[in-house]
Amino acid sequence: MPPKRASRRAARRATAAPDIGTRLAALARHLWWTWNPDPQRLFAALDPVLWEATNHNPVRTLAELPPERRASLAEDAPLARLLADCERQLKRYLAAPTWFRRAAAPHQRRMRAAYFCAEYGLHECLPIYAGGLGVLAGDHLKSVSDLGVPLVAVGLLYRNGYYRQSLRADGTTQVTYPEYDFTQLPLHDTGRVITVPVGRRAVRTKVWRAQVGRVPLYLLDTDVAGNAPADRAITQRLYGGDSETRIRQEIVLGMGGVRALAALGERVTVYHLNEGHAAFCTLERLRQLRAAGVPWERAQQTVFETTVFTTHTPVPAGHDRFAPPLFRRYFNPLARALGLRPDELLALGRERPADRAEPFCMTVLALRLAERVNGVAELHGDTSRRMWKHVYGLAEPDHVPIGHVTNGIHTETWLAPEARPLYERYLKPRWVGAGPEDDWWRAVDAIPAEELWALRNLLRRKLVHFVRRRLTQQIQRRCEPVSERIAALNTFDEQALTIGFARRFATYKRAPLIFHQARRLAAILSDPRRPVQIVFAGKAHPADRAGQAFAQQVFRQARAAGFRGRVVLLEDYDMHVGRVLTSGCDVWLNNPLRPQEASGTSGMKPPLHGGLNCSVLDGWWPEAWNGRNGWAIGDGTARASRADQDRADAELIYTLLEREIVPLFYTRDGRGVPQGWVRRMKDSMRTVCGVFNTHRMVAEYVRLYAP
Ligand SMILES: *Cc1c(COP(=O)(O)O)cnc(C)c1O
Repeated sequence: MPPKRASRRAARRATAAPDIGTRLAALARHLWWTWNPDPQRLFAALDPVLWEATNHNPVRTLAELPPERRASLAEDAPLARLLADCERQLKRYLAAPTWFRRAAAPHQRRMRAAYFCAEYGLHECLPIYAGGLGVLAGDHLKSVSDLGVPLVAVGLLYRNGYYRQSLRADGTTQVTYPEYDFTQLPLHDTGRVITVPVGRRAVRTKVWRAQVGRVPLYLLDTDVAGNAPADRAITQRLYGGDSETRIRQEIVLGMGGVRALAALGERVTVYHLNEGHAAFCTLERLRQLRAAGVPWERAQQTVFETTVFTTHTPVPAGHDRFAPPLFRRYFNPLARALGLRPDELLALGRERPADRAEPFCMTVLALRLAERVNGVAELHGDTSRRMWKHVYGLAEPDHVPIGHVTNGIHTETWLAPEARPLYERYLKPRWVGAGPEDDWWRAVDAIPAEELWALRNLLRRKLVHFVRRRLTQQIQRRCEPVSERIAALNTFDEQALTIGFARRFATYKRAPLIFHQARRLAAILSDPRRPVQIVFAGKAHPADRAGQAFAQQVFRQARAAGFRGRVVLLEDYDMHVGRVLTSGCDVWLNNPLRPQEASGTSGMKPPLHGGLNCSVLDGWWPEAWNGRNGWAIGDGTARASRADQDRADAELIYTLLEREIVPLFYTRDGRGVPQGWVRRMKDSMRTVCGVFNTHRMVAEYVRLYAP
């Protein structure tokens, strides 16, 4: 097309309606697309290679389009149709009557919650999450949006995000931190800069907004011109710094978050602290109340009645603790403002207030100042009551006022697009309800076994190809010989029973456990008539040497003679890898040391695709397992030592694989369908998907937000 005509046409469009580039850019910055397949299909169609290369970032895909592709957009009729359709869908979504409007009690209508979390897993292209906590927070916001719950959220925007993991040729972890250009992320600049007192310094903090459907998520960023270098670095890395960095980050999140909401004119009736990181929120609110002349007791009571706290881990190292001198350095001015002696303020974060050597614990602060406290699964509630009874001065755990709200997942985020046509046909009217009480998964028996099995085969095939592609990239990056590349392309079998293990490589999760008796495992995997393969993925915390050593062990095993081609470790686990693995695997393995897994949510994802859990009875699994919808490793009894526990649990896994899992998978009828296996798949879908989702979870939180 001659350029003159194009520019005339462009000029005409500019006066009439926004041009296609503007409309695409607007859609890209509305994170509704992160849980809807059509807009993702639209962005991929712009440039499929760029879409992959940017880790599915539509803002960058648009910005980096080659000029000739950009010029052709306006002429691309199918693209224009899909764009118009997506815009209609989004408009309809935002205008639809919501569950909250229909179901909320009159006193709940007035509520407005503020949700605080240090990380949010909304999508792989927005690198402000590390693992399960962030993914849970992201899924929470998406369900809040779907259900129309009045809520705003607060978090931090990290210049270098969370680290990217690659493994060297010897399996050791290489940690890299990319530098993100925030204008190239799907965010909005609110134009606001607030001031947060951090110790004696006033730190200028910029406020960004991620629009998650109906929910605004405000992200705080201290990398602002004019701040001292140390202050600019506060929001540099997620979980990357020392305890000094950590206390500063938590001041910005908790205290800065309250200030940001006030500056934006957000009216808040209840504060939800998702994990202890945000607990300083309570201190800023106390400060404001005291500054307004409210007496100390009343201020405390007010904060107490309007705070909800969710604790997320029974692992002691998972709770932030600050040495008293460090705490004093940052909080002596606040103590004065509150009219307290420094030790009185410190006591709010101590299990034993009189113990002047005890560090200040964020969880304890939140426990003391939140009326409604919960763990994230029934078992975790129980563990938490035992763990924190001293804070309440109680000897009897049953009297400790900590309840539980079992975690969930946001169904549409985790459902593979390839599964939708089948569910649209059989799970009527839809597989995710307009309200938390709608459970269409009960209708799963309507799906013919052959069709469900065909979907399973399709998703496994997609996984196998993904594994080969990723493996090839890993091998190329390590400069390995072509023989390794050939091996990568021969890795895995599209028809073989596929086991997945992907999660943070914290040591209590015991990633290498299945290699306990290597020879026995090799025999299971390499039976030529009944082959089995295992895919691993996971990052350890950047400072967790023991966790990284676990990654190295798995890496080495994957290259050992007995396992080559049948065991794979994928690098840089993220939400994309998570989606492919949880939709592609037949069995999802989970073998933590009980009761250290607070909930776990990755196991809730495979059942959406007929995947079966094989898990220690920890976290959410005791609530879901019924003997028919997957497998339990052991019965929950604990052994005397870690070594005994490892030996016993590994033995149980082998026995399950040899006697139950492998035979059931390979027992086929005349048409090649494993009827017994498919029955289990349906049991898993029916019992897990309708309950362990964030719609149900958010409805439970609404009862805590406005009791
Ligand atoms: C679902 C998910 C998690 C949660 O995993 P658990 O170990 O079960 O808590 C963590 N990371 C990613 C990327 C996920 O998708």
